[in-house]
This record gives sequence, C-alpha cells and structure tokens, in this order.
Amino acid sequence: MTTIKASCPSCGEVELTNADITLMVCSHAPLSYYAFSCPTCTDEVRKHADDHVISLLMSGGVRPTVWDVPAEALETHSGTTISYDDLLDFALLLADTDLLAAKAMAPVAH
Ligand SMILES: [Zn+2]
Repeated sequence: MTTIKASCPSCGEVELTNADITLMVCSHAPLSYYAFSCPTCTDEVRKHADDHVISLLMSGGVRPTVWDVPAEALETHSGTTISYDDLLDFALLLADTDLLAAKAMAPVAH
C-alpha cells in the first residue's frame, strides 16, 4: 500500500494511505480539492487540488470523484444582499398579489 504524505495545519506532516484521502475533481478546476481526517488530531483537512496534485494522488491510488458545480454558483452578483426587511416587503407584496388574484377570479356582477 502506498504511503502518502500530507500536512495538517495543526500537526504538520502526517502519513496516510490512498484509502484515507477523498479526491473531488470539479468541472470548474479551482474548486477541486482533496480531504482527509488527520490521523493525529482527527480534524478534517481540506485543500485545493490543482492538476499536479490530482495527478500525484491518482498515481498513489486515490480514486477521484468527479463533480459538477451548479452554473448558478459561478454567477457574479452585484448590488447589496437582501435583508430581512426586503423579505418582509416581498411577503407583503405577495399578499397584495393574492388579493388581486382573488378579485380577478371573483364573478363579475352585472
Ligand atoms: Zn492534525
């Protein structure tokens, strides 16, 4: 079994086997990562995996899992984030819309 050396932010260099490492290769390369549970402190360690690291881990027997990032997660957003007040205003507007819909559905009096 291949021994793979990795580093834990708390413990420094640790030795792992290929079965100890989860390799997640993303369709959007900057989001690819590998993760392991540190054998010393048991913390979950997660680090970015570039093409070089992916190749090294796979040559050490780590099986990659390929995943796709949802396109909307990569959208750029501008403006401020919505607040609790914005949400309340929206809920009030929906109530108005219900009243409008109820009026539209009501039988017309002649
Ligand atoms: Zn550790």
